[in-house]
Amino acid sequence: MWVLVRQGTQWEALSGDTRGAEDVLQWSAMAEQLLVNGPDKTPDQLAERAIGFPLTAGGAPMGVLGIRPEGGVLHADKRRIIDAAVTLLAVSIKNAQLFRDVKDNSVRDALTGCFTRAHSLEVIDAELRRARRSQTPVSMIMFDLDHFKEVNDRHGHLCGDAVLAAIGKRMKEVLRGSDLRCRYGGEEFLVLLPETPLQGARRVADTLRREIAERPIPWSGEALTVTASFGIAQTMPGEVNVQAVIARADQALYRAKDDGRNCVRIAAETATLVADNRVG
Ligand code: GH3
Ligand code: MG
Ligand code: MG
Repeated sequence: MWVLVRQGTQWEALSGDTRGAEDVLQWSAMAEQLLVNGPDKTPDQLAERAIGFPLTAGGAPMGVLGIRPEGGVLHADKRRIIDAAVTLLAVSIKNAQLFRDVKDNSVRDALTGCFTRAHSLEVIDAELRRARRSQTPVSMIMFDLDHFKEVNDRHGHLCGDAVLAAIGKRMKEVLRGSDLRCRYGGEEFLVLLPETPLQGARRVADTLRREIAERPIPWSGEALTVTASFGIAQTMPGEVNVQAVIARADQALYRAKDDGRNCVRIAAETATLVADNRVG
């Protein structure tokens, strides 16, 4: 028996027989046909080796359960039992998918794919505590888009939203999977870089800054150039106060704005800390 579930345009093996998920996934083309053709029209190739039962929930097809009966024949009474089981299975899978979507939406901002502010504060807190235990440095980058109000005023809020979505995408491209991407305010972002001292964070911020400033964002036949200003702070040894680190990154960001925008500035305490360590 196997179960395939459609996730967007992809098929995912929810459960497979002893031959493993890869083998099960080879059935996806047939499962697709089965969903299109309906339950009584199992494609010939599929009928040779399995009988397919479409999984539907809320009237929408979402997956297929395949069974290879002994001798290739499934009696009517067994078929009825499987039909009933398939109905329950479809509802359960749908519920699990909805639960996952809701959970994901509550921690991630749909526009940028970044963590929401509330969730960010929780995960940054956990990350700082972990860093204290392992005695590793953590750096924080805070950035804010420059003159973003003008983008909205000139091209409309839909355009502003498209720019924010593009920024979220670039962050994902540039940053490591272990870096935390957070939307802290409307057009203000936080990036937490675990196990990364200042020099590394500086490189990351520079790369992000260039990726934003040097790659215009297409919008209704135009190419929009946006820039952002960056502030960086590194945790002090043993520091677990999230708000204090954010405040230092924020101050550095304000200096970047004051210094003409589209640049990176480092928090004064962080610079001193690094300089002291060098002397020591
Ligand atoms: P500065 O360089 O000093 O940061 O100037 P700014 O215009 O970017 O800063 P300001 O704080 O004055 O404006 C931020 C603007 O960001 C205000 C608001 O219109 C816009 N904004 C915030 N969140 C969103 C959003 O989700 N979508 C859109 N389209 N605009 C947003
Ligand atoms: Mg701004
Ligand atoms: Mg702002």
